[in-house]
Amino acid sequence: MRLAVITSILVAIGVVGIVIYDRLPPQHSPFAAIDPQRPIGLATARQLGRLENRPDSCRAALERAGMLVAPIADRRDGEFCGLTGAVAVQRSAILWSDPPLQLSCPMAAALAVWEKQVVAPAAQRHLGSRVSRIEHFGSYSCRRIGGGRSGRPSEHATGNAIDVGGFRLADGRRVTVRGDWGGDTAAAAFLHDVHDGSCRLFSAVLGPEYNAAHADHLHLDMGPSTICH
Ligand SMILES: [Zn+2]
Repeated sequence: MRLAVITSILVAIGVVGIVIYDRLPPQHSPFAAIDPQRPIGLATARQLGRLENRPDSCRAALERAGMLVAPIADRRDGEFCGLTGAVAVQRSAILWSDPPLQLSCPMAAALAVWEKQVVAPAAQRHLGSRVSRIEHFGSYSCRRIGGGRSGRPSEHATGNAIDVGGFRLADGRRVTVRGDWGGDTAAAAFLHDVHDGSCRLFSAVLGPEYNAAHADHLHLDMGPSTICH
């Protein structure tokens, strides 16, 4: 008798679980594929993380985002630098400054979500404008953290990172991390919102409050370390 009651309760919990799971929007479901058109959900970062070592799923994600890329042939540059399965971004939702971005595929996919779900809404909210161009200080770059001769290789050394310096708005204004991070302005609120939103997608986000080396940019990467500072 008792066993029958317990079994019925477990079955009921299972059925309710399946119904809830089935109705879960894909951005909250860890097993769904990343959809860059959807707002960031509970599972978005995990879905992006899963793209590592899954080149086909990653390319499909870029396609869904409408990001146009050209594959870069795998290459090694010295002892710790190189690109594997990387892409050159030719066109995405927002224009980027030169030189063209060279990124690992998961990093490109994270940026595609970031443009649509972090940057664009934050610009509308705080500045009432569209972002017409994102200014960057580099993506793939063969160097160590801090740029010295010793120490850990930077995530830039495998195309897994980007440094964002500022934003050009459609109405002509320009917002830079160096000039607008501090203070009580709409531009500062926009930058802080972009910083915080980035932490929902990238594994590492470093800005002006991390150290002096980041006074003029936000470093975003999809490396193994998790930090939001
Ligand atoms: Zn960086």
